[in-house]
Amino acid sequence: MEVKTARFIISNTSLKKLPEANLPEYAFVGRSNVGKSSLINRICNRKNLAKTSSTPGKTRLINHFLINESWYLTDLPGYGYAKVSKRERATFLGMICDYVEQRTNLLNVFVLIDSRIKPQQIDLEFLEFLGIRRIPFTIVFTKIDKINQKERNKNFKMYKHILKQTWQTLPPIIYSSAVSGRGVKEILTFIEETNPIFKARI
Ligand code: GDP
Repeated sequence: MEVKTARFIISNTSLKKLPEANLPEYAFVGRSNVGKSSLINRICNRKNLAKTSSTPGKTRLINHFLINESWYLTDLPGYGYAKVSKRERATFLGMICDYVEQRTNLLNVFVLIDSRIKPQQIDLEFLEFLGIRRIPFTIVFTKIDKINQKERNKNFKMYKHILKQTWQTLPPIIYSSAVSGRGVKEILTFIEETNPIFKARI
């Protein structure tokens, strides 16, 4: 799929003023600084559609973008943000969990994980939450241009090993870089192939 149009619709701090759930939706989520905004911008072929980490307060918002006038891309708040209190962090994660559980048009959650960092408790817990609730998700390893193949394979192996202890089958995994653009095509193909599920539902 080619992204022809991408426009910002609304930012929310709660689940109250969300766009109507009348189109397929895909959420992007991950720890702060994972490279979420950069990847979203790359997917949409735009420089500043999603605001990067340097924008104050941006991590607190749920942002909806309408792509090709036919599906929503949702930028969820970054979890595990170092500069906020533990309590606030728990609130963000709570909001994210509520969102992915309640949003009826959500077809898939792309969970972004920094390929340079060893498995983190908060990521593993979030993946487990999604699995238990049967919310479909895809793991997207980010910034693969920043780490050599040997190191990243070590991290990927560790993740797979941990996930296999809990799950019989692994979720889809995509390796990405907002710098080289790797993974973008796979993400868009995944979305293109998943969109018809929504049509079949209504
Ligand atoms: P967010 O907080 O998850 O939205 O992360 P950002 O997109 O703001 O990225 C955080 C930092 O990582 C910024 O300095 C980006 O330039 C950098 N970054 C993001 N994605 C990549 C990537 O794929 N490769 C490299 N080398 N740097 C990246």
